[in-house]
Amino acid sequence: MVRVQSWPEAVAVRSEFPDAVPVAGGTDVMVAIKLRNLRPEVLLDLSRIPGSDRYRVGPDTVRLGPRVCHTAVAELLGPHLPGLALAARSVGSRQVRNRGTIGGSLGTASAAGDVHPALLAAGADIELSSVRGARWVPADGFYGHRGGTALAADELITGVRVPRAAGPQRFQKIGLRLGLVKALCSFAIALDRDGRRVRAALGAYGAAPVRARAAERLLEESGALGTARPLPAALVTEFGRLAATSATPVEGGGVGADYRRRAVSVLAARNLVQVWDTFLAKGHHGHHRDGQRQAP
Ligand SMILES: Cc1cc2nc3c(=O)[nH]c(=O)nc-3n(C[C@H](O)[C@H](O)[C@H](O)COP(=O)(O)OP(=O)(O)OC[C@H]3O[C@@H](n4cnc5c(N)ncnc54)[C@H](O)[C@@H]3O)c2cc1C
Repeated sequence: MVRVQSWPEAVAVRSEFPDAVPVAGGTDVMVAIKLRNLRPEVLLDLSRIPGSDRYRVGPDTVRLGPRVCHTAVAELLGPHLPGLALAARSVGSRQVRNRGTIGGSLGTASAAGDVHPALLAAGADIELSSVRGARWVPADGFYGHRGGTALAADELITGVRVPRAAGPQRFQKIGLRLGLVKALCSFAIALDRDGRRVRAALGAYGAAPVRARAAERLLEESGALGTARPLPAALVTEFGRLAATSATPVEGGGVGADYRRRAVSVLAARNLVQVWDTFLAKGHHGHHRDGQRQAP
């Protein structure tokens, strides 16, 4: 086990030993070692890097250190990052949330990980650092097939930057029971301040977490956003149907692809209605950034 005290030290070790396995909270790594799925020669312990478990709320974004745990996101960041806070709250048990971190979730990048659709819907960026320097990668470009990521062999995740919510956000997952189960599918949605732009994403559906771009486009082109009216039922249903076309659903977790397709359609439609109701109830509608009221 190599214990490092700073990020420069951590990336130097990473560069020297590309096979070293970084450990943040260990809820994935330690389980994999115990199950003998992983036999690392070197563990790179990130837990002593000062500030790596801190977050900073700025005027437009929240910057999270990679070792910010899910409990902190769920309990402290709800007012700024409501979608991510809902996702963090749905991770495992309290013990898992206390130890499990945002950087660890990104390192594992499981298609079923709860935080990923919320990060995609919020438009997060991920900081990847190595001895060569640091770069920011949008969540949209981070996830690859079946746990693959944009992370190079010599890089570490050193930060996550999430725009503060300007409008309502939702996250919901379906599981066989409420606690301690992998999602059978999950869905996140975020509206902007004017209710004119929407971002939505799916988890536990395809081989990687994915944006629901066709469903987003349908809404934005429908002319229904930005009005003060409930969304037409046919539009909501079509939104759900298109969300299910965002990826080819996987089999697994005791359910088949057809189940996932139907479940995600329902989840997407339901969360769209809820986010829109919140938007209308808060009286955002008809206001532009300059505070002018739009003609009905
Ligand atoms: C009982 C149980 C229930 C769970 N339930 C859920 C659930 O409901 N929803 C859910 O989403 N997840 C769940 N998980 C999975 C797990 O808790 C999450 O993936 C967690 O957030 C991982 O964080 P960690 O800090 O413990 O990661 P670790 O185990 O420390 O690391 C995970 C991976 O990320 C890599 N890594 C860690 N930090 C970095 C870094 N800075 N740079 C690069 N790579 C890094 C590690 O090398 C490893 O590959 C559960 C796990 C357990 C054991």
